[in-house]
Amino acid sequence: MANVTSISKKEIIELLSLKGSEQIELHRKASEIRRDSVSDRVYIRGLIEFSNICENDCFYCGIRKSNNNVRRYELTPDEILGAVDEAASSGLTSVVLQSGERRDRRFISLVTDSLRIIKQKYPFMGITLSSGEQDRSVYEEFHKAGASRYLLRIETSNEEHYNRLHPGAMSFRERIRSLHDLRDTGFQVGTGVMINSPFQIPENLADDILFFQTLDIDMCGMGPFIPHSGTPLGKVEYSAEESFNLGLNMIAVLRIVMPDINIASTTALETLSPAGRESGLMAGANVVMPQFSPFSLRDSYTLYDNKPLGSEDNRGFLDSLKEKIKSLGLIPVTENSGTSIHYIRRTQNVSTC
Ligand code: SAH
Repeated sequence: MANVTSISKKEIIELLSLKGSEQIELHRKASEIRRDSVSDRVYIRGLIEFSNICENDCFYCGIRKSNNNVRRYELTPDEILGAVDEAASSGLTSVVLQSGERRDRRFISLVTDSLRIIKQKYPFMGITLSSGEQDRSVYEEFHKAGASRYLLRIETSNEEHYNRLHPGAMSFRERIRSLHDLRDTGFQVGTGVMINSPFQIPENLADDILFFQTLDIDMCGMGPFIPHSGTPLGKVEYSAEESFNLGLNMIAVLRIVMPDINIASTTALETLSPAGRESGLMAGANVVMPQFSPFSLRDSYTLYDNKPLGSEDNRGFLDSLKEKIKSLGLIPVTENSGTSIHYIRRTQNVSTC
């Protein structure tokens, strides 16, 4: 059995709603659990958004296919390698390659070729991929070419809710199928949800936490929904404060119930509060992903309004991020790519209970 704590749905709903001093206490408890189970190390991964061309038409997402106001781009393998060079020369040993979703052969070859040349130059670079649903054989190809982690958010674990956020052409079952295929392929598997998204009720978020447990995930990246004005869900009523609190509490509760997984403190938290990334760490996260995409393209990867662009000075940005992490009493780590301890345990089948 993996290292998992059992908790009822009712308890989760109560914990998620905590505010004020009770919320601080919840985050403190989650931080303590993080320290005991995965240490105080915070892994830094360079995020490279290598293409914003997307076949999907998710109702919430700024780079959805139907948004004609996006300047579409796709980096070549050499340009992707250039962005990895930037990350490597700043001392990073872990990158995340993310893109819109496409299944054409050209795209698949672009990804595979890029993985190969990155691995050739940097054999020890940890590579996380986030390029959506693919056939199992494609996942196998990506894994063989050098990607070892894969992030694919389920967005919500409730099928009806999923169908209200996505067009009919997208299938909840297919996404679940993809997550299972990723696991069978040997990836460290990460998923996540959008928090406080339209039509969501508190029970959905509790179910999301239980879903993560059932799927026995290795990593999680989740963040608050933030409207994008050019999308069908761009004008929904929305409280930034509520979303921010829920975003932090989801991290804390997940850390408590799945102590040894990797949890990212995401850009969406930083969008809602200037120190949002640090708050996510204080709530129990242990991974951050500063951007290393070419600076001039960053504003074309606008998933939601006001997404921060980081800085043109990648190294300066990284240095200040490390300082901020240290000021929280945590340890920024760049020289070790930070394999999920949960993954190590489940693949070695070590009992921790
Ligand atoms: N296409 C890739 C990843 C690109 S989008 C994939 O399929 O995995 C990355 C993530 O951004 C999505 O999974 C979604 O959770 C998040 N996202 C998109 N629009 C958002 C919005 N309006 N608010 C918050 N998060 C959003």
